[in-house]
Amino acid sequence: MTPLAPPATIAFIGLGMMGRPMATRLVAAGFKLRVFDVSQKAVSDFVGAHPSALATASAKAAAQGADALITMLPDGKIVRQAVLEGRDPAVDGLAPGAIVMDMSSSNPVDTQKLARDLAARGLALLDAPVSGGVKRAVDGSLSIMVGGGAADLERARPVFGAMGKTITLCGPAGAGHALKALNNYLSAAGLVAMCEALVVGEAFGLDPGTMVDVFNTSTGKSNATEVKGRQQVVSRAFAAGFATSLMAKDLRTAGDVAKFLKLKMPGLEQAVAYWNDADVKLGKGSDHTEIFRYAEMLAEKEG
Ligand code: NAD
Repeated sequence: MTPLAPPATIAFIGLGMMGRPMATRLVAAGFKLRVFDVSQKAVSDFVGAHPSALATASAKAAAQGADALITMLPDGKIVRQAVLEGRDPAVDGLAPGAIVMDMSSSNPVDTQKLARDLAARGLALLDAPVSGGVKRAVDGSLSIMVGGGAADLERARPVFGAMGKTITLCGPAGAGHALKALNNYLSAAGLVAMCEALVVGEAFGLDPGTMVDVFNTSTGKSNATEVKGRQQVVSRAFAAGFATSLMAKDLRTAGDVAKFLKLKMPGLEQAVAYWNDADVKLGKGSDHTEIFRYAEMLAEKEG
């Protein structure tokens, strides 16, 4: 099968915090884009900045004539609606042989079903969630975790290569989404641990900036201490570009996978409850780094 090299046509659905910079990388690499988002502003901003991209009014219209379809949507339920079951879904526009790439962080069990349903329509699915956040979406150095067939990945490699630096085939359909949810469990746990350490340390009289610097040269070092500690938390910028609601969703996904496999995971269950409550208490639109504010709120209650 011929690789999907530029100027192949890609339908891109979901131009949010991540989708916009990822689609920008594809335009820069020479792909032809047909874009759709339920937010008309997201679409008009994108085609305003990239006149070679075509604005479309539905997932079906975006998919027409496309060699591949990328979804970068909040969750797997929304992906299923956009691709298969909603109004004017992408499947009604895609030609057989096209590849669907779900780069959202979706539920892997739902992804396995979507892969079967799409295969019945002659369409291959690759789950290809990403890690690295907005910064690495902008510079094209995302880590991409792929689930699906090796031959389909080889076909899609030039597309992924425009957006990511590390592309890992994790296993069959759903494997990428499973690994992504588990990765975010680690990421969330590291962030909460750092925030609690900072709250306790500050109360003891330690300087939070000094604490982060010491973590970063000590065994407490993590992604949280390296890229969120001083930049987002100590500065109280709280603007990493990844919503608390999406992190809570990823934790629920990891918890659901464990439950589906009938595995008891008390630490994960606690993390799910912690992030679900934080999502409610921090309010709509909060950044996940505001989990520090949640840690402060809980600490106050103890006093
Ligand atoms: P976002 O909320 O900023 O963007 C989602 C976009 O999807 C929005 O523009 C929204 O209007 C659009 N949308 C929603 N429903 C739609 C529909 N039915 N049809 C078309 N468009 C629709 O989210 P994001 O931060 O870009 O995250 C997208 C996915 O990537 C999520 O699954 C998230 O968990 C994952 N992710 C995010 C980050 C991050 O740092 N933000 C990092 C890695 C993975």
